[in-house]
Formats: sequence, C-alpha cells, structure tokens
Amino acid sequence: MPAKKAPSTATAAASAPAPAPAGPPGTGLSLVQRALRKLGLVRDIDFALYLPMRYEDETRVVRLADTRDGDMAQVEGVVTECEVVFRPRRQLIATIDDGSDTCELRFFNFYPSQQKQLAVGAKVRVRGEMRGGFVGRQMMHPTVKAAGTALPNALTPVYSTVAGLAQPVLRREVRSGLARSVLDETIPVQIGLRGAWDLRAALSFLHYPTPDVSMAALEDHSHPAWQRIKAEELLAQQLSQLQARLERAAQRAPVLPSSAEPLPASLHAQLMAVLPFGLTGAQQRVGEEITADLGRPIPMHRLLQGDVGSGKTVVAALAAARCIDAGFQCALMAPTEILAAQHFGKLVGWLDPLLAERGLRVAWLTGSQKKKERDEMSAAVESGQAALVIGTHAVISEKVRFRKLALAIIDEQHRFGVAQRLALRGKAGGDLEPHLLMMSATPIPRTLAMSYYADLDVSTLDELPPGRTPIVTKLVADHRRDEVIDRIQSQIGQGRQVYWVCPLIEESEAVDLRNATETRDELAGTLGEPVKVGLLHSRMPTAEKQAVMAAFTANEIQVLVSTTVIEVGVDVPNASLMVIEHAERFGLSQLHQLRGRVGRGAAASACVLLYAPGDSGRVGEAARARLKAMAETGDGFEIARRDLEIRGPGEFLGARQSGAPLLRFADLATDTLLLDWARELAPVMLQKHPELAQRHIDRWLGTKAEYLKA
Ligand code: ADP
Ligand code: MG
Repeated sequence: MPAKKAPSTATAAASAPAPAPAGPPGTGLSLVQRALRKLGLVRDIDFALYLPMRYEDETRVVRLADTRDGDMAQVEGVVTECEVVFRPRRQLIATIDDGSDTCELRFFNFYPSQQKQLAVGAKVRVRGEMRGGFVGRQMMHPTVKAAGTALPNALTPVYSTVAGLAQPVLRREVRSGLARSVLDETIPVQIGLRGAWDLRAALSFLHYPTPDVSMAALEDHSHPAWQRIKAEELLAQQLSQLQARLERAAQRAPVLPSSAEPLPASLHAQLMAVLPFGLTGAQQRVGEEITADLGRPIPMHRLLQGDVGSGKTVVAALAAARCIDAGFQCALMAPTEILAAQHFGKLVGWLDPLLAERGLRVAWLTGSQKKKERDEMSAAVESGQAALVIGTHAVISEKVRFRKLALAIIDEQHRFGVAQRLALRGKAGGDLEPHLLMMSATPIPRTLAMSYYADLDVSTLDELPPGRTPIVTKLVADHRRDEVIDRIQSQIGQGRQVYWVCPLIEESEAVDLRNATETRDELAGTLGEPVKVGLLHSRMPTAEKQAVMAAFTANEIQVLVSTTVIEVGVDVPNASLMVIEHAERFGLSQLHQLRGRVGRGAAASACVLLYAPGDSGRVGEAARARLKAMAETGDGFEIARRDLEIRGPGEFLGARQSGAPLLRFADLATDTLLLDWARELAPVMLQKHPELAQRHIDRWLGTKAEYLKA
C-alpha cells in the first residue's frame, strides 16, 4: 500500500484515500470518507472496481443548429444577454450565440459566481439537455465552463453516489484509486481467459471509454471489456462459495447414525407409524438425503425447497426424530410466533406422547414469553430433557444453553442470516457444529441455485401430497366486490372457511390496523349472523393472535381477516377460499405463498385477487405481470422464475439475509455462459492455484468474503 498523508485541510481530506480503519468504523473520518465508506469504497481496488453506471460525452462540441429537442449537447458560444428576473420566480436567464443559432440558459438556483461566469461577452462551453428547437432553444441548469479548454478524449464516467459526495469528488477518488491499484492478473493464463482483455485495460476502458465505442454495448454490459469484468466477478463468487464449502468440510459435527433397518422402538419409526398418511415419493427421497448428511461427521448445510403445501414439516419432524434417536437435541425455528405456534401444535401432537415415554419433552421458546415460563423452558433445554425445542429465533439466543444440540431446522427462510449462523456456533458442545436444515417455500431458479446458493446442498420436494385439487385463481376488479361476497357466502354455506388478506398500505401499522378492522366490520355486517369474522394483525399481542388462530383452526371463526401475518406456513385445511385485496400491491412470491394457504384439503379451492387501478387509472406494468403470472400458473417453480425476471436477483434474494455478496455487474439471466465458465474453473483454480484464488477472492470481495465463512 502506498503511504498516505493524514488529511490536514478540507481539500486534502477530499482527495486523500480512505485510510485503513482503526478502531470502530466511522470514527475520525471526514464526511467524504464516510460517504465513500457507505459505498463500500475503502481500498484502492474497491475504487478501481467501482464502475460507472453511465457516461457523459464531453468529447465533442456541436453546432446549436445541429441539435434536436432532447439531445444532451455540448456547445460553445458567446454570452449575448444575462439577467436575473424575479417573475414568475427568481431565476438567472442568459443567452448564448454560437454563430449557427442562439440558446437560452435558465437557472433557478445559482451562485453569484455563475452569474459572473455568464457575463455578457464571455465565451463559454455549456452542456445540458436541449429543449425546444424551432421556436427557440433552451437549456435548464446546464453545466458551464470557460470555452476553449482542451476537450477530453474519453467519455466522462457518472458513478452512483450518495448524499454528500459530489460527482467530481467521487471521480477524482476513483481515478486515483484506479491509478494506485495493483492489477496483476489472478486468473492463470493457462486455464483462464485466453485472448480476453487484460484486467487493467478492461477497467481503464470502462472508467474512461473512447468516444467511438457503442454506448449500447457499454450500457447493456455486452462490450468485451465488460465480459472480462463479469467473468472475474462470477469467478470470485464461485471461489468464495466453494471455499466456504471446503471450510465447512473441515469442521466436525455430531454423527447421527441411522440403522439400515428401522428399529421398531425408534422415535423415527414410531412417528412414521402415527402419521395419518404415507410419505410422498419426494418426501421419502429427501428424507434419505437428509439422513445421509446427518450420518456424516461434517455439518450439513442443506436447503429444503418445496412449494407451499408440499409437506416440508413432516420431513423436518422425521429429521428431528433421527436426531433425538441418536441422543441429541433438535431446534426448530420459524420467523414468526404464529408459525412457530403452528409447528408447535402439530409436532407436539405427534411427538409429545412418544417423547413422554422416554422421559423427554418438547419445549417452546419465544421472545414474548413470560419470564417464569421462559426460565422453565430454558432449564429443560439446558438439562437436555427438552429433546425438541421449537420457537422463534429466540431459540438460539445467547442465553439459551443446549446440552447437546445436533440439528437446527429453520423454516420459511430463504437463507439463514449470518448472525444466526454464528449464533449456532458452539451450541453442539465441544468443538462440534450442529447440522443445519433450511426450509423454503420459494423455490430458487436454477441459475440462482448455481450462483448464490453454491455453498449449500439443495433438496427439492417436487411432488404434492395426493388428493389435492388445483386452486382456481381469479382476477376480479375491485368494483365487482359483490360477486366475491356471494362466493364467500357459498363457501361458508358448504361448511368451508375463508381468508381475507388486507395489504399493508400505509407506513403506519396503526392505519393498517384501522383498515383491517374496517374490513372486518364491513364483512361481518354484510355476511350477518351466525357467521363469525375474526381479525389478525401483527400489532396484536401474541396471546390474542394465538387465540384467534386457534378459533379459526377450530372453525369457530369462518372468515379470517388479516394483514400479511398469515403469509407463511399457516395450515388450516378446511379453508377453501382466499381473497386478497389490492393484490396489485403484493410481490409475486408473497401472493403465491398466500394462495398456498388454501387448497390444503380435498375441497376445491379458489383464490380471488382483487385489484384496483392506481391514480393513473391503470395497474402498473410490473403489477400486471405479477397478476398475470398468478392467474396463469400454480407452479411454484414457474412463479419463482417469473418473479426473478420481474424483480432481478437483488430483491429476489433479499440482500439483507442472503449473506452472499450480490453480483454487481453480471446478470444471471444473460450471463449463463460466463457462469458455466466460472463454475468449471473455480474448483480447478482452488486446487491448482490456491494463492491466486485467495488473491482473487480478496480483490473482489475483500472483507465481504468473511461473511460467507460465518
Ligand atoms: P409446507 O411444505 O407448505 O410447509 P406442510 O408441511 O404444512 O407444507 O404440509 C401441508 C399439509 O399437507 C399439511 O396438512 C400436512 O399434514 C399434509 N401432508 C404432508 N405430507 C403429506 C402426505 N404425504 N400425504 C398427505 N398429506 C400430507
Ligand atoms: Mg411450512
């Protein structure tokens, strides 16, 4: 690293590279450095890899007469007029003449210095968007420089920035970071990118492209220099995930043996016997995959994906039984208390009698629990008497001590967060790591599985339990609500139950609660006695929520109005109609999840998506694509594919909990060849050139790579 001067003045601070952090991040940094850090720009290489989002062409000066309305144009001319007017509002208006035509410049915000720059008779170079043509040219807020200075010979980069970090400052920082960066090749020529752009050339070009380049090829990242950068990025992602995998392989986990023949006395066999149904082929296969993992001395990291209703809970229960049979404890966590309570109810029903015979029990842990109950449960966990511990993430909070945790199961979570993974450390006792099973109802499209989830093993339940009738999905405009009421009445008449989901409309939960309450009252009024309409809202105290859920499960409530708290996992097979209000406001996988709450029993089920056009009188394009997808398919994999298409991977994954750094440049939908290349190369590189591989990961992911190891 080059020596760095301590910033002493404001200007020095603006141009000095951010020093390596000492002490807690953010202390003693200038505003600029803080802003740079927000963008992840710390090391020289971070700047070099911070590529522009677009460019401005300042390389040419054109004649005013040759410009058209809407052009970004740079022209040079003499100022012929300049004045400040106050009506209709204060503004600076100047006129320039370049010999071919004249153009008016307008500024609503301006400094005295700008006024001086635009003094009558001055020769200026201005750049901005051309408005009007024939009737008089105009530019609003153009940039103004003195005319006659040398024109740059490259396009000017425009970087994505944050408040407090002006584009020129950021440009200067990037330029010096790039210049200082050591950009030796990390991809060995003999296995790598023969004939491709070299790294320094590609980066220099993408920061400062020559004006003859196709702007389209820069913008859609198809230019060969972009190809080189995207290949590097994808390789870094593959390498880091592969490395995470190898590091995991070096860790030790409790071995949970399974005898080839099911012991009649085992909890696993007994659970199989009490299940009111046989397993589907898919459940059986996935069960075997998990059993094989649990029998190995390295920690399992498996993602179990299966569409809503595919029966993941049973698979989890059977895995738990294996774990308990081996004399260890199992933790089952869900993102919400409602869902955890459902699991608890179901698993307690199945397992508690069987555990009781063994002097064991199921424990329940959540954040909102009363202290007395919590202490009692914690004691049972610590003594090992609680063989199965169910709850929210409170289960793995620091305070909870397991005697022998061997398996952690997380339901309805795309991917376990980094912090939570760390929290599991050391809970298996000694230097052992617990096995980890993650369950998700949102299938991951193949390309994502190969990139973001490359460090996980994936099992798929690709078969629904028999006897399900497909859910009919109907799109209904909001003004035809009456028809929906008829439907509800007819379902209730047949002894069935109904969900009615209200969207989150406002930022404020109080307003949402009011909306949901109004809907409940309105429905209760319309449907009349003896129909009972219940309300579930995230603001309600847990005990109340559970009471409502229990009443709905027992069919004491026929219509359940709720905000999206029922989104995940709730299982009431007698519910046959789902109405989603303002469906256009929901995300696609969210809609699919909600729809999955019905069609769980043998009765024909339906989902009504009520939509209302927005202020523009139309439903937006993305919303329309989501509703269309819902009406056209019930297949979770197809839904996921379309969702990825509509939203892109960043939002799809939910960057917050993905743990894996998002791809900045590569696009999995179009860069499949590069992804294949990176997948093939990564293991070879790790094996034959481990130092280069490490350098490559550090260069691209820097400190972010640390997350993956967690
Ligand atoms: P999800 O995968 O969405 O979590 P659940 O585990 O909640 O699905 O299962 C959905 C419903 O299907 C539950 O009522 C469950 O008891 C039932 N179920 C699970 N497996 C089978 C099976 N093999 N045969 C019949 N019903 C099953
Ligand atoms: Mg579930």
